[in-house]
Amino acid sequence: AVTDNLLELKGVRVFYGAIEAIKGIDLTVRKGEIVALLGGNGAGKTTTLRTISGMLRPRHGEVLLHDERIDGIKSHELVRFGVGHVPEGRRVFARMTVRENLEMGAYRFKSVDSAEMDRVFTLFPRLAERRSQLAGTLSGGEQQMLAIGRALMGKPELLLLDEPSMGLAPLIVQQIFDIVEEINKQGTTVLLVEQNATQALALANRGYVLETGEIAMSGPSADLLADSRIREAYLGEG
Ligand code: ATP
Repeated sequence: AVTDNLLELKGVRVFYGAIEAIKGIDLTVRKGEIVALLGGNGAGKTTTLRTISGMLRPRHGEVLLHDERIDGIKSHELVRFGVGHVPEGRRVFARMTVRENLEMGAYRFKSVDSAEMDRVFTLFPRLAERRSQLAGTLSGGEQQMLAIGRALMGKPELLLLDEPSMGLAPLIVQQIFDIVEEINKQGTTVLLVEQNATQALALANRGYVLETGEIAMSGPSADLLADSRIREAYLGEG
């Protein structure tokens, strides 16, 4: 049956050698949503994103995009399917300029779409000002903006964001979250991995909480924000 799910994980189990990092998770993202994937250190958030983007293969279970299996497709090919991944730690090309980094993001196309680059520069005026600067000399927040901009150049339908707030000052985090909201309004579906649960849920429609490789809780953001277990474990209360 055809569903309105853009992304679906069914019974996904991922191993590092003999260690089971993801222990059979089910997760869906519908077109147009922002979904938050929350959890503490080592819960398996990054492993889940890397599995969706084809960097890791699940040993059991299925990953579906528009109801078609994508597990087993290599990550560089998944870009063609409209999956953009902003990895943990940003990984910009330090010795290339801002503009060259953005051009790299468009590698799946024959040529760079200047309208798309203009859109990125409109979303991130800081990058426009610094288009000729070497990426390695940007601040952490600017590098995060560049990593997101580079992924947008691949025109993703689904954007996977791995802890965009990591190591950044609260003001910069808020700026980046505001831009993620704008990107979503312009039509991109978002799966957002965060340790920063309050800010992530303020942005997201729904959330999943991972604990040692299993989904411990899930639901609409408002329900998760109101849940006493979440408040104690992730919002620094209780
Ligand atoms: P963090 O917020 O700290 O990045 P996370 O929720 O993203 O945590 P993962 O990085 O997905 O968690 O790690 C999940 C589990 O898998 C952890 O126990 C981790 O030690 C383990 N793990 C991650 N990468 C590897 C690897 N390359 N080899 C072996 N074990 C790994």
